[in-house]
Amino acid sequence: MARVLVLGGGAAGLVAAWRAASLGYRVVLVEGNTRLGLKLRISGGGKCNLTHEGSPVELLSAFAKVQARFLRPAVHAFPPEAVRAFFRDRGVETYVRENGRVFPLDRPESAAEVLRALERAVREVGVEIRVGVRAEGLVSEGQGLSALRMEDGRRLEAEAFILATGGASYPQTGTRGEVLDWLKGLGLPVHPWVPALAPIPLVRPRPAWEGVALRGGTLVLRAGAGGRHLDARPGDLLFTRTGLSGPAALALSQLVERSRREGPAWLAYQPAGTDPETLDAALVELAHREPRLGVRTWLHRFLPERLCEALIREQGLASDQRVQGLERAQRRALAALAAALPLGEPGPVDLAKGEVAAGGLALGAVDPRTLQVRGWTNLRVCGELLDVDGPVGGYNLQAAFSTGFLAGSISPGSS
Ligand SMILES: Cc1cc2nc3c(=O)[nH]c(=O)nc-3n(C[C@H](O)[C@H](O)[C@H](O)COP(=O)(O)OP(=O)(O)OC[C@H]3O[C@@H](n4cnc5c(N)ncnc54)[C@H](O)[C@@H]3O)c2cc1C
Repeated sequence: MARVLVLGGGAAGLVAAWRAASLGYRVVLVEGNTRLGLKLRISGGGKCNLTHEGSPVELLSAFAKVQARFLRPAVHAFPPEAVRAFFRDRGVETYVRENGRVFPLDRPESAAEVLRALERAVREVGVEIRVGVRAEGLVSEGQGLSALRMEDGRRLEAEAFILATGGASYPQTGTRGEVLDWLKGLGLPVHPWVPALAPIPLVRPRPAWEGVALRGGTLVLRAGAGGRHLDARPGDLLFTRTGLSGPAALALSQLVERSRREGPAWLAYQPAGTDPETLDAALVELAHREPRLGVRTWLHRFLPERLCEALIREQGLASDQRVQGLERAQRRALAALAAALPLGEPGPVDLAKGEVAAGGLALGAVDPRTLQVRGWTNLRVCGELLDVDGPVGGYNLQAAFSTGFLAGSISPGSS
């Protein structure tokens, strides 16, 4: 049968190649690195959170509505249960953590086991693997592709093409994002890459607070200091030398970068889940009820010890200041701090440091039932190259596996 060329040997490309070859197509898988699946190998801190437990509907509810609608046929074709069965059949047992995240059974290097299972799968069905040469461009003929232009000057021809070149983060894993420009060159609508699931740098970081974690609160994004509320994400936050990391920062990073590009942006963390007025009233009452209560002890109810010390100093208060002796303005300032700790202006979020890159080929340009690019008879796209990005938790690999599966499901007569 026809020759199918899959470009990109990551999660989506490996599954697409396996699926197309299983259906009887002659498949060539081309990967620019000398090894397959470099990003997969480092996923989940080397443990690989390969999917998220749940029905297709539950899984899709974690994505933005437009993306969920687009992904529906792919996720139904290759749902989380099928992904787990695929790996189980190849010797990789998985388990579900309390938070629904699915991992291979705990062993060092379990991400490498996931990759090895995929490599075995493509070899078993006879996929021809070519590594170590990057593609440099697409050669089109009318409304179809005829070849890939390779960096060594050769052209690789095929009857059908599946592009699975990933996003643009972690370029050291081979994802440089240039294929999006090629698609734009074909006249297709693309959305530029935007960092997502990335740490957030601060214009004025707090290196002295490096390693301090704020737990159980909400990270809030505002349009400038004192500006209107733009968005928020619940979760823990971690101070780094240059800014913020941890689940809340990763989850909000894409919105932070998009807002930053539009105008002023400002971050605060709400540890208490209460407004300053309520906290101020509580302080007034405490001053009577617990006259010996120290400001530091009170603030420590909301914030870690290391921060309290510094914040009290910054307020010009003595470290043994009691709640009872506070002036009104001092009391209000403390209540405001405990209600929403100001973190300041975010700096540019680094695309390279995101777990994924948002943006990609606009979903309207692709038929969600086949992943064929509309108007391009022999071109399919899958994985992170599509404008799809999910939260942390196994959603992005599941999206890559599902779209890879659907892109490789070429029915005879179509391409
Ligand atoms: C540090 C880190 C941890 C992560 N952990 C998780 C996790 O635990 N769970 C989860 O769900 N998601 C995780 N992700 C996200 C997930 O890894 C990606 O969403 C997923 O790998 C995307 O799959 P893909 O096949 O589309 O792209 P990739 O896996 O990135 O594969 C694309 C491949 O295409 C190749 N390529 C690109 N351009 C060319 C070219 N011009 N010529 C030849 N080859 C080319 C690249 O070298 C690469 O190998 C993590 C990401 C990172 C960076």
